[in-house]
Amino acid sequence: MTVTVTLPERSQTAAPVRPAAFAEKPSLVGLDRDELGEALRDKGVPEKQIKMRVAQIWNWLYVRGVSDFDHMVNVSKDMRAMLKTHFTIARPEIVEEQVSNDGTRKWLLRFPPRGAGRPVEVESVYIPEEGRGTLCISSQVGCTLTCSFCHTGTQKLVRNLTAEEILAQLLLARDRLGDFPDREIPVGTMMPSSDRKITNVVMMGMGEPLYNFEEVKKALLIATDGDGLSLSKRRVTLSTSGVVPEIYRTGEEIGVMLAISLHAVRDELRDMLVPINKKYPLKELIEACRNYPGLSNARRITFEYVMLKDVNDSLEDAKGLIQLLKGVPAKINLIPFNPWPGTNYQCSDWAQIEKFADFINQAGFASPIRTPRGRDILAACGQLKSESERMRKTERLAFEAMMIANHGEDDD
Ligand code: SAH
Ligand code: SF4
Repeated sequence: MTVTVTLPERSQTAAPVRPAAFAEKPSLVGLDRDELGEALRDKGVPEKQIKMRVAQIWNWLYVRGVSDFDHMVNVSKDMRAMLKTHFTIARPEIVEEQVSNDGTRKWLLRFPPRGAGRPVEVESVYIPEEGRGTLCISSQVGCTLTCSFCHTGTQKLVRNLTAEEILAQLLLARDRLGDFPDREIPVGTMMPSSDRKITNVVMMGMGEPLYNFEEVKKALLIATDGDGLSLSKRRVTLSTSGVVPEIYRTGEEIGVMLAISLHAVRDELRDMLVPINKKYPLKELIEACRNYPGLSNARRITFEYVMLKDVNDSLEDAKGLIQLLKGVPAKINLIPFNPWPGTNYQCSDWAQIEKFADFINQAGFASPIRTPRGRDILAACGQLKSESERMRKTERLAFEAMMIANHGEDDD
């Protein structure tokens, strides 16, 4: 059942409700080193100090995870006062934190308005598993694309998230999971990566990351920076519906792992399920995948395939899938369709999903079935949503009851 937790002491200091004037200051989170240097120079920091100050601030922000300038104890008081006057490093507000009975956590975050924009709300999800923990983050509020089985696709794009807002999802989750070193630990100490709760990040939340390329690139380069958050590029996966030109750029300029929302193996069907296919058809998509740099048996592209009853789940489709991916280092991730209010699709029967998976396995492809996680808190793929589209409480209770009736409560 859904558990809504009251935030303990630590988060109240980490995520205060801030007065508007404070919220509108520019954030130092999400700036690359050059931009950070420029911001300091602009406020009169002498040129000969810039490199050292940038390194100090970078360490505080991304190794120690501070969200208050006063905790930067090796930065002089005057400098801290100056930083506080002009900038913020505060976290977004946590509107709600939910913990599923399977340990999945979901946060609804509210980002303050920047410039003329309005505040936006975003959900991110943490999925603990044996030996690893994955954080699923969003790149946009809503989506311009209209994949017919995706709840996000029914929502208009509200706006792109900034690099700060993309990174803030990771910083906040690390705060809440205790993934930053305690404040008492001496300056310069790093948290051993083996102790971290978040070992993997997937850009599989709301939005199409490759339609927000520059900000996503900035955020992921900071998240994988070895002197900061230090996530390995092999443990960061960007999922795209298939924006072909930006797939090439992702390989060249970001270098993280790639996941493709494939969902169909014939153009005619994919045009309906994933309409961007009309612009970038399967042939071009698979060609871009073949050319993705650094692929090997140990470094494969993930192909996501949502199992839709009587739509794309026949053994003919499975055969087509094997043919399409011949020679591409690939794993196939079968996702049981997660229903949402108003959808006409149904999830394939479990027996059919297993038959489909076996068929693909026999052809030599790894094809794990993605276990639905956090179902009781609507944390599954395609179920994240923006404030404007949030279900009313009565609607939500009815939906949760339907999900439980359809699936049983603990059958994962
Ligand atoms: N826009 C990007 C990333 C976000 S979606 C993309 O499309 O790849 C993450 C994954 O969940 C995608 O593969 C998406 O197709 C899938 N998905 C969307 N709605 C779903 C649903 N209702 N049930 C199961 N998977 C869904
Ligand atoms: Fe957008 Fe991805 Fe949903 Fe398609 S599946 S509508 S690209 S979020």
